[in-house]
Amino acid sequence: MTLLLIHNGWVLPCDADMRQALRPGYVLVRGERIEAVGAGSPPAGLLAEADQVIDAVGQAVIPGLVNAHTHLFQCFLRGLADDRPLLQWLAEATWPGGLAMTEQDFYLAALLGFVENLKCGATSVLDQDYVQTSPHNMDAVAEAAQRSGARALLARGVGDREPYFARFVEPAETIIAETGRLIRRWNTGPTSRVRVEFGPMIPWGCRVETLAEIGRRATEWDVGVHIHVGETRDEVQMSLDEFGLPPVRWLDEIGVLDERWQLVHCVWLTPEEMDIVAGRGSLIVHCPVSNMYLASGIAPVGEWRRRGIPVALATDGPGSNNSQDMLEVLKTTACLQKVGQLDAQALLPADVLEMVFHGGARAMCLDGQIGRLAPGALADIVLVNLARPHIAPVHSAASALVYNANGNDVDTVIVGGEVLVREGKLTQIDEARLVADCQAAAEGIIARAGIRIAAAVETAG
Ligand SMILES: [Zn+2]
Repeated sequence: MTLLLIHNGWVLPCDADMRQALRPGYVLVRGERIEAVGAGSPPAGLLAEADQVIDAVGQAVIPGLVNAHTHLFQCFLRGLADDRPLLQWLAEATWPGGLAMTEQDFYLAALLGFVENLKCGATSVLDQDYVQTSPHNMDAVAEAAQRSGARALLARGVGDREPYFARFVEPAETIIAETGRLIRRWNTGPTSRVRVEFGPMIPWGCRVETLAEIGRRATEWDVGVHIHVGETRDEVQMSLDEFGLPPVRWLDEIGVLDERWQLVHCVWLTPEEMDIVAGRGSLIVHCPVSNMYLASGIAPVGEWRRRGIPVALATDGPGSNNSQDMLEVLKTTACLQKVGQLDAQALLPADVLEMVFHGGARAMCLDGQIGRLAPGALADIVLVNLARPHIAPVHSAASALVYNANGNDVDTVIVGGEVLVREGKLTQIDEARLVADCQAAAEGIIARAGIRIAAAVETAG
């Protein structure tokens, strides 16, 4: 097995104390897993024995970031419907654009998205594709993940009733059968690089019996369930009007919530609903840039954490962000809570790192396997260049990562021991060619969908 040694860096193991930094430190990788992490110089002999040595001087060596919620097909639609609230943004660009995409478009958009995530330091991506216009759209996304080398968990986004977008509605039998087929094809082992799980889009988009069946099958097949909940006040009102209950109370009433459920957004939960989430052991995925972009609100992250709810972080889709830069998400997570609470200590760098790494590992159903640099963990490792004018001088690596660094500072990206990005460049994919192919494909989609660019980008008001 290949032996890879990273030394001379500013190593943040993020194992127990998120602020701990080994300076210098080293990480030894054998095959797809980490064999050793240590302070100081590596033991004599290792430098000679290693097949590959990376000198990380001036760089932070951290676990790969986890982007726990996105919709990568929107890479081709970003910027088309800026400055609109959620439901209008969906109807005017995201839904019609998605309908005009071919299987090949899904492949290319996802590949661009996985590449962007990797280059910005996210080694693990939880992608929810919800355009099932061809039975093989999800296979195309999975093939793109495989091509990129990223670690991917793909939630098959579905709905089986209106008011969910009628053109995306599928019968419950198709939802169960197709998700099952994908799981059998892609989930070849507990840590296989690409895996599939359930992804009912929103509580009001699925019938009660379908959500119950998804819950039962998720337990039987040992996979997670990924769902948007309480993103905007309008959506909560829809739940109150139809069911007489806010969304988490309704999900609990029908008996589905458990530790397999990953609840995305949760901006507008009541205190009682937060108690329910904590009691059921479900996880919340927080998307602060998207919540700001769509004017959805400021999520009560501190109240979740005080209740012991695990929290992961994410960009959300490229249509509502518009980037996939998880380092930007770290800063936004901290700053949005500070201004929302009028409390400069509302979230500290260690809190943000705990969410992105440990909450993210939990969201990927890889608790303990990723999100830390420790012997036995999967070798998903990122090097971030701290020796740059907008970062130096560094007094605390954790602070520099959260408040200074951005995706352009990522130097090296390793997934399962494989070096996918080195000195900021992809090692296995022709980036210029990919970008050119994506530009051509996206222009074709916009023409076919009849989206008027001039109208879509004009200034509001
Ligand atoms: Zn989303």
